[in-house]
Amino acid sequence: MTDSQPSYGEGTRAVHTPHPPAFEQEPLGLPVYRTASFAFSSANEFAEVLGGRAPGYSYSRVDNPTADAFATAVAALEGHGVDDDIVGQPFASGMAAISSAVMAHVGAGDHVVCAAAVYGGTWSLLANVLSRFGVTASFVEGNDPADYRAAVTDRTRLVWVETIANPTLAVADLPELAAVAHEAGALLGVDSTFATPVLCRPLEHGADMVMHSATKYLGGHGDVTGGVVVGRRDVIDPVRHLRIDLGGALSPDDAFLLHRGVSTLPLRVSRHSASAMVLAEALATHPAVARVHYPGLSSHRDHPLATKIFDAGRFGGMVSVDPHGDRDAGILLCDRLRLGMPASSLGGTRTIVSHVASTTHRQLADTDLARAGIAPSTVRISVGLEDPGDLVADFAQALDGLR
Ligand code: PLP
Repeated sequence: MTDSQPSYGEGTRAVHTPHPPAFEQEPLGLPVYRTASFAFSSANEFAEVLGGRAPGYSYSRVDNPTADAFATAVAALEGHGVDDDIVGQPFASGMAAISSAVMAHVGAGDHVVCAAAVYGGTWSLLANVLSRFGVTASFVEGNDPADYRAAVTDRTRLVWVETIANPTLAVADLPELAAVAHEAGALLGVDSTFATPVLCRPLEHGADMVMHSATKYLGGHGDVTGGVVVGRRDVIDPVRHLRIDLGGALSPDDAFLLHRGVSTLPLRVSRHSASAMVLAEALATHPAVARVHYPGLSSHRDHPLATKIFDAGRFGGMVSVDPHGDRDAGILLCDRLRLGMPASSLGGTRTIVSHVASTTHRQLADTDLARAGIAPSTVRISVGLEDPGDLVADFAQALDGLR
């Protein structure tokens, strides 16, 4: 624009309204940069930024300051206590994060060793999608590192596990699995959605990449979808390039909500964990219950490992319970609850339940469920932020009706 202002028409005047001047003061709240593009002072500056030779933002699918602030916040939490420079990449969903994280590090002819008890979308990405592009995968049942070592081939590039698995709440032996991956020259990628950096920081235990469905605890209110991958810069740079090419960019508005969620994460996860412990202990004493799965209980097989790799005696907000009986017992338990709501997702303010055999694991026959340590009646509970006494009473009245 030149100094002498021509007299523009009303359309031009409406479009070219002045923006507030840039100023140095830091706002306490995170600004939402709701823009697709960023303007440059010259064509040359545009070319320099786009070419990566100068710092700056060009286009929000590539980078956006609000989305970056969210990923940087998670990288700071996950990187605490780690000497390397830990960086993060924001995504529109957990699955967008997983697909970029995995595909950034494997190509045709490569092999992935993956826990059998992973999120169904991860399993499907490997078994149904990447298999069409020449990537093979072995799925390991249970969490014995020796079984992972046995599954490794000379083409293994990635080992993928979840810190806490769904719905048995088995805990991954991250230091041992990192050793297995690194001996093979592969990376260890960890989906730490259930654990959050409040319970456990996998990078401290040797993992190379940590991924979250931010839809869950990071957002924490059940009102946004998002994902994030963090790790060393050399591991994350290829993930960033794939994010740009595949297009799963996090929107600035959703990034704002997720960034705000991160600021209350320790408070919420502490409360989820304390309430889950109270509920798990109460469920374990109810005569209608055959088994409770919660890594905070000394009866859980992985309690010693969880005590070792989780922080400050917190074991998370996820609990699974097997009422006596078959599938109908689990379904009836869900239906009888007044506070617990049958719904997808987890990690929000409200207690959510799912009957595992008819929802998340509906493709599995009873024999396959048994091999995976899941009973026909298993109900997965995402313990919300209600008063724990109210939750215990609600589950007690629901279980009383099963006898
Ligand atoms: N990982 C885990 C452990 C999950 O539970 C989920 C979703 O339920 C995902 C990944 C996928 O995340 P999103 O639904 O945000 O794509």
